[in-house]
Amino acid sequence: MPYAPYIPGSTCPYIVTEIALKAQFVVRIATAVFALLITFGPIAAQRIPSPEEHFGFVMGTDKELARWDEILEYITRVADVSDRIVVDTAGPTTNGHPFVSVTISSPANLARLDEIRAASRRIAEGRITRAEAEEIASRTPATAFINHNIHSTEIGSSQTSVQLVYELASGTDAVIQGILDNVVTVLIPSANPDGQVLVTDWYRKNVNTEYERARMPWLYHHYAGHDNNRDFFQANLIETRYWMELVYHETFPQLYLDQHQMGRSGPRMFVPPYPDPMNPDVHPLQWQQLRFIGGGMAADLQAAGKQGVVTGSMYRIWGQEGALTGRYHNIVALLTETASARIASPDTVELAALERGAAPGRGLGEYGFQVAFVDPWMGGEWTLGDIVDYQTIAAMSFLEQSAKFSEHYVMGRWEMASQTIAKGSAEGPGAYVIPIDQTDPLAAAEMIDKLILQGVEVHLATEAFDAVPQTDVWDTPDDGTLTLTFGDGGPMQGATATLRRPVLLMVVAQHGDTAGSRRHAAPRLHQAAVGVGDLQRSGVAA
Ligand SMILES: [Zn+2]
Repeated sequence: MPYAPYIPGSTCPYIVTEIALKAQFVVRIATAVFALLITFGPIAAQRIPSPEEHFGFVMGTDKELARWDEILEYITRVADVSDRIVVDTAGPTTNGHPFVSVTISSPANLARLDEIRAASRRIAEGRITRAEAEEIASRTPATAFINHNIHSTEIGSSQTSVQLVYELASGTDAVIQGILDNVVTVLIPSANPDGQVLVTDWYRKNVNTEYERARMPWLYHHYAGHDNNRDFFQANLIETRYWMELVYHETFPQLYLDQHQMGRSGPRMFVPPYPDPMNPDVHPLQWQQLRFIGGGMAADLQAAGKQGVVTGSMYRIWGQEGALTGRYHNIVALLTETASARIASPDTVELAALERGAAPGRGLGEYGFQVAFVDPWMGGEWTLGDIVDYQTIAAMSFLEQSAKFSEHYVMGRWEMASQTIAKGSAEGPGAYVIPIDQTDPLAAAEMIDKLILQGVEVHLATEAFDAVPQTDVWDTPDDGTLTLTFGDGGPMQGATATLRRPVLLMVVAQHGDTAGSRRHAAPRLHQAAVGVGDLQRSGVAA
C-alpha cells in the first residue's frame, strides 16, 4: 500500500489498509466530481439555494423576517445561477433603497424579451387587426405582473416574493415549465422598500420584548404613509412613477395581481370577483375574466385545504383604487387581501371576534356559510406562515391560469382595447382638450406629463381649431374627423380646427413628438407648454 496514510499511534495493519482503501475511494470520487465540474460546470453551478439555506429559516417562520437588502441579496444570488431570472433596478426609492423588478420566464423567452414587449404593446394599443392580434397571440407568451408589499406593514408578501422566486427558478414539474414557457412574470417584490426596511427593523428591535406587538409610530412611506397606493392618479411618489414606467411603458401586461393584507378579525383571504357596485366604464370582458381567474384561485386554495376564502364581497372596485388602475387600460387586475398576523408574531383569533368583525357594511352580513364564503375559518392561531402559504398558492394559481390560457388573455386585452376605441369613435367623446392658454401653463404641463406616464395618449394640435365645450358629445363628420369649437369667453373663442379620430386626449401645446404615448422629460414639456405664442389661431377675434 504505497499510499496508505500514516496513522499516528496505529498498530493495526487491518485498520491502516481499510483507511487507505477509503482514501483511495475518496480520491477517486473527488477526481470524478472534478471531471464532472469541468464537463458540466454550468449545470452543476445552476443549483438554486432554497430560502431556508440562504436565510436560515423558511419564509413565514414565526418571528423571522427577511429584510429588503437581504431579500435582494437572495434574489441576486438566484439570478446569478439561474437562466430564468433577470433583475432590473428602476432607481433609488425616496430613502435611497433600490426599487427592483424581477422578470422570470424560460431562457428562450428572456432571449426575445424586447420582441415580446413590442408585441404586447401593439396588443395593448388595440389598433391592429384581429388577424394581426391572433398572429401575435399564437407566438407571444402572456405577461403577468405581480405587485407585492405596497403597504409595508402588510409585510407577508415581501416574504412571499422570495418563495415565488425560488419556486419559479428551481421548479422542474409540468406546472412550472408551463408557466415559464407561456408567461413572462414580472414581480415587484416590494413596492415600498423603504417601509419594508422600517417595519422589519422596528419588529426586530421589539421582538421578544413587551413591545413585540406595538405598532410602529411613524410613517412607513416618507411622504405618504399608508396612502402610497392612493398616489396612483397623481403619481407624486418616485415609487409610483417606477411602477407606471414598468406597467404602461415597458412590459404591457395583460394580467395583474396585487397582494395585500387586511384586518385580523374576518375572513382569511379575499379573492375576486369584486362586489357591487361595479364601474360600467371597465370593459365587461374584464369583469368576466376576473370572475374566471378569481374562481380558479379560490378553487386552488380550497383544494390545498385553505379555509376562510371570501369572494364577491368586501372589496369594491370603483374608483382609482391604488395600484389597480390597470383595469382602465384593459389589464385584468386582481386584488387579494389576506388576514394579518401581528407582523411576524402569531395571533390567536376567537370565533366571537370573527363574528363581531364580519365586515359589516362590506357585503358580508354575517360570519357563516354562504355563497361568498363556502368554508368559514372558525378561529384559532394565525401566523405569518399562513399568510405566505395563502399568497403563494394564490400567485401560483394566477400564473398557472395565465399560462394555460395565455392566448385568451393576450387576445382579451386586444379585444377590450379595440372595442373601446370603436365605442369611442361611435359615441364619443373623441378627445379631451387642454388649451395651452392657461393661467398656470406649468401646472398644465405637469398634469400632461402625469397623464402620459399613466399610459394616456396625448396628441398635439398642429393647427388652431374650434371646440364646443358646452356640449358633452362633439360633432362627428362622416369622414372620420372631428370638429371642435371653443365656446365663448375663453382666449380660444372662435378658433377652428379639425381633428382626425381616434384621439384619446388632445393637447394644444408644442410637444415635439405627436405620435407616441411615451413619457417625455418634464423640462421639455414645460418649455413646450410655455410656447403659447407658437400656436396659430384662425378666426379668433383679436
Ligand atoms: Zn394594503
